[in-house]
Amino acid sequence: MRWELLNSNDFAKAVKETKVCVLPIGVLERHADHAPLGTDVLIAHSTCVEAAELEPCVVFPGYIFGQINEAKCFPGAVTIEPKLALELLENVVSEIARNGFKKIVFYNCHGGNWNMLNYFIQYQLYEKRDYTIYMFNDSFPLDGDKSLGDEARKIVSKYPCHAGEWETSYIMSVEPGCVDLSNVDKEPGLPLGRLSHIKGATTAVDWYADFPRHYDGDALEASKEKGDALRALHIRHLAQFIKAVKQDTVAPALMQEIFDKQQKLTEM
Ligand SMILES: [Zn+2]
Repeated sequence: MRWELLNSNDFAKAVKETKVCVLPIGVLERHADHAPLGTDVLIAHSTCVEAAELEPCVVFPGYIFGQINEAKCFPGAVTIEPKLALELLENVVSEIARNGFKKIVFYNCHGGNWNMLNYFIQYQLYEKRDYTIYMFNDSFPLDGDKSLGDEARKIVSKYPCHAGEWETSYIMSVEPGCVDLSNVDKEPGLPLGRLSHIKGATTAVDWYADFPRHYDGDALEASKEKGDALRALHIRHLAQFIKAVKQDTVAPALMQEIFDKQQKLTEM
């Protein structure tokens, strides 16, 4: 169920019946020369909407206000002032909770959001709240080793990637007609390794050092058929995750336990 398509009364019913809200997260950013700016959020939103058909839940509208400072130098990127990005997400999440959802699932499809979202989830323990966030880490596993990744690599040769075969195929399935394969750069996006001389460092330009065209992989290998298969795979995995979230009682109880202990400390 899509939040924005429900009327107020049906929304209240959906909260009661499903108890889970899913937040599809992306950004607006360059996807080489051939794929749309909203690729991440369009993929995230459509996957969530279809997973909600398998495992009923309410899907929040696509959230585009993530971390994308590395694409600020390209047309069409929308970057939010860093502190505001966290505050805005906090505000949105607390509004979702105020509307009755005590379990919120993050479904992120933008690699540059992981650090921010992981930190956001860590500081949920900073002060008491009555809801729990569960982030689905397999929307595209960066360590490349999770089961979904293994299945995806049977469909495409590189997974995950940015604007390459995987992501281009996926968006061709979600929004047929918005990808122009005739614009695909003939030179595939191979990592340039421009920072490989400083082993073990993290810098603000790690990704740009490898992929200055914002192109990782080879979109000439992309097809709608591959996208359809990938999409079905991701939808199935997300639906299973939502089911597990619905059944979970441990994470909320442990959060409560920590909040109770925090409270006791202040009373000593
Ligand atoms: Zn993307």
